[in-house]
Amino acid sequence: MRARGYGRRSNGISMADNTEHITCQEVVDLVSDYIEAALPSEQAALFEQHLNFCGGCMNYVEQLRTTVASVGALREEAVPADVKAELLAAFRDWRRT
Ligand SMILES: [Zn+2]
Repeated sequence: MRARGYGRRSNGISMADNTEHITCQEVVDLVSDYIEAALPSEQAALFEQHLNFCGGCMNYVEQLRTTVASVGALREEAVPADVKAELLAAFRDWRRT
């Protein structure tokens, strides 16, 4: 997925050279934009690419999607800070294994 914007990054995503992937942390940071379809297509593609191999993030996104579908909008309080911290801890564990 290198249709356009190749080699140029924005929105605070920092990646080394040509590595075409984002981290779990970035998924958490970008998920609200993704769900609201506010991500540039290149980033949305990278986001989806991550979900393809990371079941944890996929579940996380699905969970938020469900929340959005029921409340009609994604608000910061939809993701309690402690839940977010637990998810990030879980992500770190997965990455170690
Ligand atoms: Zn992930």
